Amino acid sequence: MKKSGRNGFRFFKGEMNAEALRWLALETRLRRAIERGELALHYQPQISRIDGSVVGMEALLRWRSEEIGVVSPGDFIPLAEDTGLIHPIGEWVIRQACFQNKAWQNAGLPPVKVAVNVSATQFKAGSVSGMVAKALLDSGLAPRYLEVELTESVMLGDSAAAEAQMAELRAMGISLSLDDFGTGYSSLGYLSRFPLDKLKIDQTFVRNITTEQRSAAIAQATIALAQGLSLSVVAEGVETTGQRDFLGLIGCDVMQGYLYSRPVPAHEMAQLLAKGRVA
Ligand code: C2E
Ligand code: CA
Ligand code: CA
Ligand code: CA
Repeated sequence: MKKSGRNGFRFFKGEMNAEALRWLALETRLRRAIERGELALHYQPQISRIDGSVVGMEALLRWRSEEIGVVSPGDFIPLAEDTGLIHPIGEWVIRQACFQNKAWQNAGLPPVKVAVNVSATQFKAGSVSGMVAKALLDSGLAPRYLEVELTESVMLGDSAAAEAQMAELRAMGISLSLDDFGTGYSSLGYLSRFPLDKLKIDQTFVRNITTEQRSAAIAQATIALAQGLSLSVVAEGVETTGQRDFLGLIGCDVMQGYLYSRPVPAHEMAQLLAKGRVA
């Protein structure tokens, strides 16, 4: 089976093999995952390097299938995008994150933004801003407590629909964060064209930041670029104190990664919010 561009898989003669059948079976199961209650959001805190406080969190989707166990989003998100299942799943994610964040605020926990991942497929379909508006209305969450994470692929190609929705989200008061910065194919031109609030330094650069001059240079340039454009910066995939210290030295003040906390289930995130810090 060969990945054929954006819209799915092409089967070559005689290639309807075990792998393809495995995907079909996975799709059938994923189709039922929402109604069966097999999806959950975990939350990973974003931490201020300055005082160690929790300043935000990212919602990350988890799927525990009754029949096949835990499937990682790296495996099922591409499948969901290719089959269109990303639309109901993506809507569930947005609504769940809004309702959960509002419930925490109602319980008296200190309010922070929740960031949700929205894929290019959702933006291309034009459904994001309407979905978000309805989720905010239904949950009662204030827009400033929601952030949308998108990748550079959203801004590639025929991006008019994406641009319009980004403007609508921004007008509602929702912040936009560019995920996996530096790993896509786009030019820097879109940084001025699209209404962004934040850049996330990709974990591939963070991983090698203390050992590889190139990664360090890219991280440093990203931070300078963000400062010049008045965008905030988050480093993701921070695993060591060495990485944290280096990032601090080059001016990155918000960190996300296993050094602080893995993504945790909602009840554990509530405890982190109550403490206001991870340690
Ligand atoms: P991402 O948005 O770049 O999310 C960061 C990934 O890095 C997460 O993997 C997270 O668990 C992992 N991570 C966090 N800290 C560290 C660290 O210190 N070291 C290492 N090695 N990894 C760390 P996860 O949860 O498996 O998600 C993988 C990808 O799946 C996400 O990458 C995102 O692209 C996608 N994804 C997850 N949830 C959703 C969702 O609700 N909607 C959409 N469209 N995509 C999602
Ligand atoms: Ca993300
Ligand atoms: Ca990322
Ligand atoms: Ca990623």
